[in-house]
Amino acid sequence: TNATHDEEASAKAAAASADSGAPTIFDKIINKEIPSSIVYEDEKVLAFRDINPQAPVHVLVIPKARDGLTHLGKAEARHGEVLGQLFYAAKIVAEREGILDGFRVVINNGPDACQSVYHLHLHVLGGRQMKWPPG
Ligand code: IMP
Repeated sequence: TNATHDEEASAKAAAASADSGAPTIFDKIINKEIPSSIVYEDEKVLAFRDINPQAPVHVLVIPKARDGLTHLGKAEARHGEVLGQLFYAAKIVAEREGILDGFRVVINNGPDACQSVYHLHLHVLGGRQMKWPPG
């Protein structure tokens, strides 16, 4: 539909303009300047509920220090440890949310994937039957 097309176009425009390394809204969430519903937190990682949930459980898992990881496409060997910490945190989130029997971890990378916030994040989605292939 046109509406879907417009949404995709604006998502792409937002994504394309956002890959500058500029601060994102997630910095304010990390600094607790804006409130979020935190599900898990440790020294390196923060997990909080998505403001626009796409499933009954929709949690974002982010590194507290972006360290160049605007998106997964920027990953380097030195990021290996924090990437592992993010995936382990995703499992802890799934456990806490009671969705270990079925959940999905998604990373939208870049304009063609409709990434809208340029601070690496894992989406942890569950609490309903997921479909395949994803959109
Ligand atoms: P992306 O489209 O993969 O980059 O995902 C960004 C996600 O951040 C989207 O699912 C948004 O709903 C979510 N989001 C944006 N701003 C906020 C916020 O202030 N709090 C919680 N989630 C947010």
